Amino acid sequence: MNLSMGPGKKEKKNIHLDYDTVIIGAGVAGLYQLYRLRELGLKVRTFEAGSGVGGTWYWNRYPGARFDSESWTYGYSFSQELMDEWDWKENFSAQPENERYLNFVADKFNLRENIQFNATVVSTQYHDDRRYWEIILENGDCYTSRFLITAIGILSAPTMPNISGVSDFKGVSFHTYYWPKEEIDFEGKRVGVIGTGATAVQLIQEVAKTAGHLTVFQRTPNWCAPLHNRPITAEEQKEIKTSYEEIFAKCRASYAGFMHDSDRRRALQVSDEERQAFYEKLYREPGFGIWMGNFRDMLVDERANTTISEFVAGKIRERVKDPAIAAKLVPTNHGFGTRRVPMETHYYEVYNQDNVQLVDLRETPISRITEAGIETSDEMHEFDMIVYATGFDAVTGGYSQIDIRGSGGRTLTDKWADGVRTFLGLQIEGFPNMFTLVGPHNAASFCNIPRCIEQNVDWMADLMTRVKVDGLNRIESTAEAEEEWTGHVHLMAQRMLFSKTNSWFTGINSNIEGRDQRSVLLYAGGAPGYRDKCDEVAAADYAGMILH
Ligand code: NAP
Repeated sequence: MNLSMGPGKKEKKNIHLDYDTVIIGAGVAGLYQLYRLRELGLKVRTFEAGSGVGGTWYWNRYPGARFDSESWTYGYSFSQELMDEWDWKENFSAQPENERYLNFVADKFNLRENIQFNATVVSTQYHDDRRYWEIILENGDCYTSRFLITAIGILSAPTMPNISGVSDFKGVSFHTYYWPKEEIDFEGKRVGVIGTGATAVQLIQEVAKTAGHLTVFQRTPNWCAPLHNRPITAEEQKEIKTSYEEIFAKCRASYAGFMHDSDRRRALQVSDEERQAFYEKLYREPGFGIWMGNFRDMLVDERANTTISEFVAGKIRERVKDPAIAAKLVPTNHGFGTRRVPMETHYYEVYNQDNVQLVDLRETPISRITEAGIETSDEMHEFDMIVYATGFDAVTGGYSQIDIRGSGGRTLTDKWADGVRTFLGLQIEGFPNMFTLVGPHNAASFCNIPRCIEQNVDWMADLMTRVKVDGLNRIESTAEAEEEWTGHVHLMAQRMLFSKTNSWFTGINSNIEGRDQRSVLLYAGGAPGYRDKCDEVAAADYAGMILH
């Protein structure tokens, strides 16, 4: 047992602190963590940068933003009443509804009373002597708390392109993450979109419906697959309501918390006809089945992966009328599913429309942005509006935005200078009493996120119960435990094809200096294995952590 009841504890325990726990962020993770800690009777405060709850679903208001997870697998599972009361309207629910859901949750459980909105945390500092965190907001307000829990998400630090002249453009422009709350009308407008990731794909399909002219600037094509969204019928609604237990059990047992889990066969073990028929079936079915429910070697074996890549390439060529444009849309530098698969609804057909133009930046790169639009090596494109769907400083970016100083004043930036190191993706050695929900190296970052969030939060709530019962005031992972977990995370990543591909999965971001080398940020060992490891640690009296 690591628990130490050392001298001086009483004095430390009696100092006045503003809170037992401060949570940063009121998105899916932060809201549930607040609910659980308040249930324990702890004095909790949540600081949220936005003016409302929702995190990802508060910020990303761009047209077309919606779940790629089946809606009924995305909602919280902790409250039967909540599941009974809430009706999802579509199989893959859109942002306005998702934001309403999270507001419904916040209202139902009176969570707002513990949340301070428009409160951006700019720095946090651990005080060794008295074992507490100091939390400073953008407006200068300062608070103290024994524990600090970050619920800041993995895609919360948007990055603008490092193209000269971005601020010169005189028309309307924004990053998709900062999409304004008021309605934006594209009718008759000349719109330019930079990027073709999951965000851009959702957006482009919508903008193409009404824009006078839409120009898509693509640097790297992605392998997209049909979402097949549709409304949920009354009959299905009843079925969903009575099946939640089985639904969540199925998600719990799957590699990434989805309804879809890999097929036990290997791709080359079956005949060509059988394989083709299976791919056709997956392509017709809704959601991530084609990614998560494919042959079990599809994401680890290049030969297997080639078969699905060729199949999807064929679909792109069928759907895009002009073969030259189709050729530009077929990825050539990575296999299917080795980057995040954007889910689409008539995305490829957009390029058959007269009002849409695809600019391949590999042939004609952007030279600069001007007052009037985007200049490429061969042409000036004039716009009324430019949308930057250029992605995020993913996974660690949210942490870089805050000046986090742990024991002895060491910054987190310094700690991670040679690569991310964590224990379970939930704690960092040298940063006592701080916990990172959905942090780097945590299975939640490669998961149907609410399913893994609930696991993270429940684990934290158990730890905080222990804190309360035993009057603990300092919890820190050991360097050995951190090294062992980090090594395991690296090992798990190595076997996956995604680790050999440039994308946010591997920490690549061309818009940030020095981020051209791949790193290991995500835990690829699967959600069930991750959960077992967390449970093992807890059952062994938090082995790998020192509890005082
Ligand atoms: P992303 O996947 O990183 O895509 C960014 C896009 O911008 C890429 O096409 C990138 O090209 C391009 N780009 C970046 N900088 C550029 C530059 N300087 N010049 C030209 N092109 C540039 O970002 P995202 O689309 O926002 O998606 C991020 C993640 O958010 C997704 O992978 C997904 O996990 C999540 N997401 C989820 C949902 C959902 O659940 N429904 C929806 C949307 C997004 P390169 O590829 O060449 O770098």
